[in-house]
Amino acid sequence: MDNLYIEISESSLIRNINNLRSLLSVKVKAFAVVKANAYGHGIDQIVTILERHGNLVDGYAVHSLTEALSLYNNGVSKPVLIMGYVPKSSLEEVIDKGFHFVLYNLDALKKVEDIVSKNRKKPFFHLKIETGTGRQGIDQQDIDRFIEIIKPNSSLQPTGIYTHFANIEDSTRHFYAKEQLEKFVRMCDRFESEGIKIPIRHTACSAAALLFPESHFDMVRLGISMYGYWPSRETLLSFSQRFNKIDVNGFLKPLLSWKCRVSQIKNIEKGEYIGYGLSYKTTYPSKIAILPVGYSDGYDRKLSNNSWVLIGGERAPIRARICMNITLLDVTHIPEISVEDEVTLIGKSGTEEVTADTLASLSDSINYEIVSRIAHHIPRYIVD
Ligand SMILES: *Cc1c(COP(=O)(O)O)cnc(C)c1O
Repeated sequence: MDNLYIEISESSLIRNINNLRSLLSVKVKAFAVVKANAYGHGIDQIVTILERHGNLVDGYAVHSLTEALSLYNNGVSKPVLIMGYVPKSSLEEVIDKGFHFVLYNLDALKKVEDIVSKNRKKPFFHLKIETGTGRQGIDQQDIDRFIEIIKPNSSLQPTGIYTHFANIEDSTRHFYAKEQLEKFVRMCDRFESEGIKIPIRHTACSAAALLFPESHFDMVRLGISMYGYWPSRETLLSFSQRFNKIDVNGFLKPLLSWKCRVSQIKNIEKGEYIGYGLSYKTTYPSKIAILPVGYSDGYDRKLSNNSWVLIGGERAPIRARICMNITLLDVTHIPEISVEDEVTLIGKSGTEEVTADTLASLSDSINYEIVSRIAHHIPRYIVD
């Protein structure tokens, strides 16, 4: 029996993707973004589910070569796109394994040209265009150089071209995203006018996929929404205004439940301090439960004295400072509690629910950070 564990709902994942796909026209591909251990859900578990249901997604997007290799070693045959920087010394392996990868600097392009001239394998590279996010991407002034190199070389043709939005989650006003989209279209046209045909154009993360059909092009990259969370309140609000025929409640359902078991229960007198730093003093005779979870597991220290968990459908407040592997709870109002009882840190219990959004607002964060920081060492199980 595990002290600390995660359950992943297979049916919710399938449902979310089907709902998201209902917003896409049939020819648009959907790549599942499984970077950061599948946003903390467990890359192996998420990929296992998606491979079981072969048509749900058309490929995977990861950040690093290491993540791509873990998919490769698990026998994944769908395309895997590496979105983060690939060191030049790893390009040969990336091309050899048939991974899709991002290209945005001339040095790397020349290295690819060099590799391809020797080993004759097709490189599946996607040009990343800088349109205003100020992260990785080809700057407008370098485009000519890229074209000069690519145009005459038939074995150096891009598989994809893409960009990423800077301000699509954080606002209900989308003028900046529209400007980025216009720049992107101009760039695509530029390549096209040079006779360079790029089969997969893509710009959309979850928020864009949800809100803007004009951002879908040939493919979308689905991250947070696939895991059942809205990218932000603003996205939810914009979505419910734009698609007022769709019931937003239940359109996306979180798949992750984070649970643990009580490791000790003790009775504490009124007026005693508990925990590091004496940050909590009991104001009544209290029953305190000890949980085997702490900040090293990804349970944020900002939740100290500031949040709650669920036990048998009841809320139990967190008392004192969250420690590295231990958290204290007030369970005075739950007389029937015993050691090894199940506790829900994220998820539903009875009619109550703690979501990643709840924890995000209590710890001044976002749902993305809450789930992606849940430690890798915690076992994850696929349920229903
Ligand atoms: C992480 C990431 C995504 C997914 O974003 P969500 O908002 O989680 O859907 C898409 N594109 C790129 C380039 C990313 O890095």
